[in-house]
Amino acid sequence: MSNSDNWIDLRSDTVTQPSDTMRAVMAAAPVGDDVYADDPTVNRLQDYAADLFGFEAGLFAPSGTQTNLIALMSHCGRGDEYLVGQEAHTYKYEGGGAAVLGSIQPQPIANQPDGSIALADIEGYIKADDIHFARTRLLALENTIGGRVLPQEYVKAATALAHARGLNTHLDGARICNAAVKQGISLRQAVAGFDSVSVCLSKGLGAPVGSVLLGSKALIEQGKRWRKMLGGGMRQAGIIAAAGLYALEHNVQRLAEDHDNAARLSRGLADIDGLTVTAPQTNIFYVDMPAAACEPLRAFLAGQRIRASVGPHTRLVTHLDVNADDVERTIAAFKAFFKDWRA
Ligand SMILES: *Cc1c(COP(=O)(O)O)cnc(C)c1O
Repeated sequence: MSNSDNWIDLRSDTVTQPSDTMRAVMAAAPVGDDVYADDPTVNRLQDYAADLFGFEAGLFAPSGTQTNLIALMSHCGRGDEYLVGQEAHTYKYEGGGAAVLGSIQPQPIANQPDGSIALADIEGYIKADDIHFARTRLLALENTIGGRVLPQEYVKAATALAHARGLNTHLDGARICNAAVKQGISLRQAVAGFDSVSVCLSKGLGAPVGSVLLGSKALIEQGKRWRKMLGGGMRQAGIIAAAGLYALEHNVQRLAEDHDNAARLSRGLADIDGLTVTAPQTNIFYVDMPAAACEPLRAFLAGQRIRASVGPHTRLVTHLDVNADDVERTIAAFKAFFKDWRA
């Protein structure tokens, strides 16, 4: 079933097809009405994920945008503020949901080249207790961020600083499994220091839909109310939770293959004159190219059954539906195009 059209799709790790085994597991999943907390498969997923990452409780939701928003709304109230990177998904790519729906003010802070937020900036943006200011409640980090792994020492220092100053900490861990596998550490180690974590099951892990929010029992109880209000209360959701459970059980360690494939692909493309290629840390990297090449390259790649978000700053992403042969085919296609292309 998967990849039957033989296209190579490098736009995102969200484009994966559920495998036949995953589909079989979904079809066989026992289900119930999750709004009554009756769905045994959802409950299993939540418990399994909580244990895997070292938290008291978990909450399954339709998307990572929703688990992030639930977390922000659970940590912060009206007139509170969260510190967040300018490049962070929660700030930049979630429609301003925290402000729109949560009455939470974001305090965006420049990300450093490695994706971190400088400790001095965190310190400097924490506001004094003063009626003029929003109340700074939360530090939100993202790992991986743009494919970059936050150094463990940094994560430790940033979360300790936040806690010492009375803030809570949230991790947008959409791709935290990539970060853990890359560093050869456990998922528990990778999320140590955070009061809550959002994990996407539908990215490199290969589930068709869903994210889990992890936190204390109290935070998740609060989160359940927001999830219902946001329209995320689902019924026989075990059918999709089963895919997420399967993904967590089987598809974490194999992320190393995606990292290897990204490294090989980046090395192959770096050989081509006119391209500037970043060295990937995980499964995402960027290729800079002349703007005039973009339109013809996109068309050429499409002719080779390769899909990519081609632009002057092209993001390429490997995932479980991209194998080693696909990497070679992609390098060959880029080489063929740039051999003949002149501005
Ligand atoms: C994909 C993603 C999310 C959540 O996105 P959804 O499409 O809503 O599931 C959150 N953070 C990051 C960093 C992401 O890449």
